[in-house]
Amino acid sequence: MSAFNVAKFGGTSVANFEAMSRCAVIIENNPETKLVVSSACSGVTNLLVELANGVSNQERRSELLTKIASIHDSVLSHLNHSDEAAAEIYKILDTVTSLAEAASIQASKKLTDHLVACGELMSTHLLAQLMRERGIDAVRFDIREVLRTDSTFGRAEPQLADISTLAGEKLAPLCQKHVVITQGFIGSDAEGNTTTLGRGGSDYSAALIAEGVEASGLEIWTDVPGIYTTDPRVAPKASPIAEISFSEASEMANFGAKILHPSTLVPALRHDIPVFVGSSKEPERGGTWIRHNAETSPLFRALALRSNQTMVTLRSANMFHAYGFLAKVFEILAKHKISVDLITTSEISVSLTLDQTDTAGGAPQLPEQARFELEELCHVDVEHDLCLVALIGNNMSESKGYAKQVFGTLEDFNLRMICYGASPHNLCFLLHESVAKSAIQKLHTELFE
Ligand code: ASP
Ligand code: MG
Repeated sequence: MSAFNVAKFGGTSVANFEAMSRCAVIIENNPETKLVVSSACSGVTNLLVELANGVSNQERRSELLTKIASIHDSVLSHLNHSDEAAAEIYKILDTVTSLAEAASIQASKKLTDHLVACGELMSTHLLAQLMRERGIDAVRFDIREVLRTDSTFGRAEPQLADISTLAGEKLAPLCQKHVVITQGFIGSDAEGNTTTLGRGGSDYSAALIAEGVEASGLEIWTDVPGIYTTDPRVAPKASPIAEISFSEASEMANFGAKILHPSTLVPALRHDIPVFVGSSKEPERGGTWIRHNAETSPLFRALALRSNQTMVTLRSANMFHAYGFLAKVFEILAKHKISVDLITTSEISVSLTLDQTDTAGGAPQLPEQARFELEELCHVDVEHDLCLVALIGNNMSESKGYAKQVFGTLEDFNLRMICYGASPHNLCFLLHESVAKSAIQKLHTELFE
């Protein structure tokens, strides 16, 4: 394993010159950091997405282009030798301009990826030049040479074997000589088309790249000082977690804690790379280490909240003592590529929640055709405006008495669905959106304070 560390900086961490300078200090303070993965400057991806969706109004289009240019200009104005970086960035801005025009005529997912990738392509020119001006031997590297994906534009699947080979050939040797600054979020398919891993994907990129170069550590620098027992905006007494296991952190990411992209820990777990999460604004506050085995494994670790849940309940008297009913249900769901998240069953009914699969956000929908086919089999009810609360911890399936504590705290709440037992790390339930936050507050007070 290489004795080097990969550091990833999110959009707010590279928002402007001051923010980027703080990143530089963090990089300088760890001599093992040889590879830096950066997001686009804060706000840029959103502006690019708007352009990619097709803005036919010429005035609005130039307004967006001006905004994008000015974010980068403001950093350039702080650099002493900005000529080269400026020339590269203006070239990319020209590409943005023509792609935005093309998108206003006919938008496509392929074009969108090409366009939104420009945010990371620009921010890395700035960060590399800023580092050089601080006396660090930094080089910028185009990660599209290494991060090979399939051609699913908008949510491309990384091709692990290719990434590992290419990283070994092109990236790892470069990191032996320089501090390499590269892009998160983006990749390319076998034909050389630019692809993206989906919104928020640069955490995932960083983990894939760390895996590819067999890094010894991965730091994720963001705008929060690590993982907390729950979102401090919901429960102000939430406390930081110093160390947590991969399994617990994955559960948290899956169940809606917005700190990490849910796929991030998969490559880290595969290669047993410890992950650190901290705030680039306040690195002195420390953060959270995510490791294979955490030193402690408390019964209750954290509470996560995921909104916009859709619950589907299927009822049929024919289910009574019958076989094959669920197989038929899942056959229909599979045919329509509907991914199921939670599931509970009783003798004549089954309830399930739908996974959020697209990056557009909002509540997942049961497609009309799927509903129609299910209705031939049974009675179908769909409920929205639900939230999923997940209590995350350890050895929950082997511990006595705690259910009383949890459900006692929630005696005034109407729980729509409870899932427990399949994983020793979580207990989940659905509640109406209007009461979910107060349920989190009550539980946090009772179990964590
Ligand atoms: N810049 C991309 C986004 O805003 C990727 C990332 O920051 O993770 O979604
Ligand atoms: Mg981000």
